[in-house]
Amino acid sequence: MAGARSEQGAVQTEVIPVLLGGMSQDLFRTDAYLTECSATVSAITPQGIVLDRTVFYPLGGGQAGDTGVLVLADGRELPVVDTRKGKADDGSFNDDICHLPAPELLVALLNSEQTPDFRLAVGDRVTARIDWARRLRLMRFHTTTHLLCHLVPQLVNGCSITPDYARLDFNMTDALDKEALTAGLAGLVAAALPVTVGAITDEELDAKPELVKSMSVQPPRGSGRIRTIRIGDAALIDLQPCGGTHVANTSEIGAVVVTKIEKKSATTRRVVLGFAA
Ligand SMILES: [Zn+2]
Repeated sequence: MAGARSEQGAVQTEVIPVLLGGMSQDLFRTDAYLTECSATVSAITPQGIVLDRTVFYPLGGGQAGDTGVLVLADGRELPVVDTRKGKADDGSFNDDICHLPAPELLVALLNSEQTPDFRLAVGDRVTARIDWARRLRLMRFHTTTHLLCHLVPQLVNGCSITPDYARLDFNMTDALDKEALTAGLAGLVAAALPVTVGAITDEELDAKPELVKSMSVQPPRGSGRIRTIRIGDAALIDLQPCGGTHVANTSEIGAVVVTKIEKKSATTRRVVLGFAA
């Protein structure tokens, strides 16, 4: 949900990494369709490889971290198996985005004498390239979860978005109808509604607390602006703070179905989404 930086970063991006050191420029927040970018290695740590800029989305807001490759100067491809936000010594998130190689490869990279296959050093230029087919599935599911928030106007107390399924837990006691929700989603997909990235101020969010639909995750405050995702043209379908990656139009979601509705607890109904075969 840490999405406030990109809107104000367009002009400052060449300056901020220099001034603040570890900050990774998150290109995916302004353009979710970027599949690769050139970048410079700014750190190699036990948390992973940090670049000055990246198209890799780090696990957050329920959405899985990206996978892909870092293409090295000699053309070889270093596999990235996950992406995570960096953590400071006190455990809080910092602005690093950490690209994770397989554990044994990371150990080898940290000890240059043990890297027969890959050599990587701070300052090296690489091309960061995500697994786009996988990411597009995550984007289609993430936008679908926002459509579900429109169809089920209840607070959310859990969310998980993977390439193969997504689930959203609603804080409610009433039953939900699987077929009715699938039909509702199909209608919103067929309506080909635009999905746009915006921003609101902390004060605007304070004045409209109903925009926050998650009970478990609060949008980051303090930076002044909070990233939002809006679905709908003149008629608003959904608007909420979100740092995730989304398709640009609901028509790109395609055939998504509700595969299961579970009663997780007396006050939680879980909706599980899948792609139609
Ligand atoms: Zn979201």
